[in-house]
Amino acid sequence: MDIYDVVIIGAGPAGLTAALYAERQGLHVVVLDNIEEQSLLAEADIVDNYPGVKSATGMGLLETMRDQVKSPIKSEKVISITKNGGPTKFLVKTDDGEYNAKAIILATGATHRKAGIPGEEEFVGRGVSYCVVCDGPLFKGKRTIVIGGGNSAVKGALSLQKMGVADVKLAHRRDELRAERFWAEKIKKSGIEILWDTIPKEIKGDKFVKKIVMVNVKTKKTTELDVDGVFIEIGSTPSTQIGKAIGVETDERGFFKTNKNKETNVEGVYAAGDVSDTPLRQIVTACSDGAIAATAAYEYLKSQESKKA
Ligand code: NAP
Repeated sequence: MDIYDVVIIGAGPAGLTAALYAERQGLHVVVLDNIEEQSLLAEADIVDNYPGVKSATGMGLLETMRDQVKSPIKSEKVISITKNGGPTKFLVKTDDGEYNAKAIILATGATHRKAGIPGEEEFVGRGVSYCVVCDGPLFKGKRTIVIGGGNSAVKGALSLQKMGVADVKLAHRRDELRAERFWAEKIKKSGIEILWDTIPKEIKGDKFVKKIVMVNVKTKKTTELDVDGVFIEIGSTPSTQIGKAIGVETDERGFFKTNKNKETNVEGVYAAGDVSDTPLRQIVTACSDGAIAATAAYEYLKSQESKKA
């Protein structure tokens, strides 16, 4: 079995940048990419805040990042990591193989947060969606509501409007958007109705979504709206299971705790991007995290070698 210097888990901006930096230091690298949990970047319709790239689709940018990496990127889902105790330190098992690793970079990203309301799970794919770019075009001429007040929700609502969706509403649980001012100003000028202080209570329908029950958290008033589509854009939950199993600590919000070198509490294990306790979740910061983690892993492996000599 091949012994890798670094096994990188996750092929989003953090994982791919880590691979780029690690391989340039001459490290033997493999990237493991769980295609069931694709990077959330793939769902961005337009990226226009990544320096050096004026405008690109999320998928386009991700493909360019993949092309730049020379190490193998394998479509394999990691099942477990175990500590070996020997010089290779870790054994990574996937649904299609096993990898011995001297160091690991966890760049597993995050998955869509669920609203946890009745009807949500039942109507996924039948009117409930977590991806405007993927499913928005299906709602051309129809009525939709987007839940959330961050960049994803606001950008999603604006994209739906651009796609020709007849009626787009946005519901946010507070009276002020979390989205960047740039996007907040845009939606306020767009004509999209914003339901302030409002949360979803239940999604109803038959074969497809027909209605959503909304509650105003201040007045407690309940309203039933006729909708064909409900887009839930309420943030994300970090994918930490694999790392937790080898004792990587998380903070109170569930992100992997890291120091300035993106080292976790487990020697030889680094965390980068959305899964880590990074103060800003953007493509540019995920890339930065990946570069820092790879460089720290290189320094660590070098120090291990010099200890042996
Ligand atoms: P986010 O910034 O965490 O915002 C989530 C939104 O959903 C918040 O407004 C939050 O309300 C609301 N929310 C959370 N749980 C809820 C619940 N159970 N019920 C109702 N509402 C709920 O998530 P995001 O918009 O997906 O963005 C994630 C990260 O990606 C952010 O760092 C964002 O800047 C970045 N991003 C950037 C861009 C870009 O173009 N620059 C695009 C997309 C995403 P509260 O405001 O009350 O907490």
